[in-house]
Amino acid sequence: RAKSAGGNRFELADAEADARAITRHGLTTALPAALERGEFFIEYQPLVHLGDGTVHGAEALVRWCHPQHGVLGPDRFIPLAEHTGLIVPLGRWVLEESVRQAHFWQERHSDGGPLRINVNLSPTQLHHPLLVAETVDVLERSGLEPGALCLEVTESALIGADDDLLKPLRQLAEMGVDIALDDFGTGYSNLANLRRLPVSVLKLDRSFTQGMQQHPADPVDLKIVEGIVSLAHSLDLAVTVEGVETGAQAEQLRELGCDTAQGWYYARPGAPDRIHSLLLADAV
Ligand code: C2E
Ligand code: MG
Ligand code: MG
Ligand code: MG
Repeated sequence: RAKSAGGNRFELADAEADARAITRHGLTTALPAALERGEFFIEYQPLVHLGDGTVHGAEALVRWCHPQHGVLGPDRFIPLAEHTGLIVPLGRWVLEESVRQAHFWQERHSDGGPLRINVNLSPTQLHHPLLVAETVDVLERSGLEPGALCLEVTESALIGADDDLLKPLRQLAEMGVDIALDDFGTGYSNLANLRRLPVSVLKLDRSFTQGMQQHPADPVDLKIVEGIVSLAHSLDLAVTVEGVETGAQAEQLRELGCDTAQGWYYARPGAPDRIHSLLLADAV
């Protein structure tokens, strides 16, 4: 019995795997036309100062409005676009569109201080020879100052990075663009290695925030976050936390010295109008 049940399970698993592979294949081949037809759109999630709840900026998160499958999250198609190289034109579009949007917000809220825009970069984009030139071009055409842009690169993309890979990031950093280390704490980067990287922001991965959800929070988790924050601050890095879902987490992270936060507690990713009204309201 056990054997036949196991057999059925395998068949089911195979069928699911096949279905997934078919969808993957279909999505991969549909990507270029989708970009041309304008099926991608961007949602923005606010980044908030933990101290006073004011809006610090927003992260641009891409979605695909697929004619058959509905709205797909980036985890469904970014890896495919990365694999085929379509991430380069798609990423260029995301950068252009979100920088334009950020400039629009700034023009309307000039009294609210500089609003920042965070854009994710995948490893292929990082290796692209035109990364610096295209970023400069996008900024110049939009009128957004480089200091208002933050490019997010995952920790894993920079593990073992040599000087060739770091050079374009250094150039961007010298222009004033912030580089954030995204999903920090999930890779295996040597903390001492941080000094070598041209980053100015650490984005603590959501897994740390989840550890704060218990009451009382795990004391070891607290110590780890406290340690990361003090190390980051001693290296002049700002600390952003992802995945803040409750007020208790926000309070805890504020006490631990984190600078900015992002999460459903403040706002889910949404249409650009949301950011506009949050800026009008002055605080989340
Ligand atoms: P990420 O950069 O770490 O972005 C944060 C993810 O956490 C987003 O998922 C966001 O919707 C989600 N999130 C925010 N607050 C909360 C919360 O309180 N609780 C929980 N459970 N989740 C929260 P999303 O939008 O599905 O994006 C997933 C990943 O896709 C991003 O992770 C990023 O690595 C990648 N991505 C998104 N847009 C782009 C893009 O334009 N280019 C590239 N290369 N990657 C992108
Ligand atoms: Mg990110
Ligand atoms: Mg992240
Ligand atoms: Mg993440």
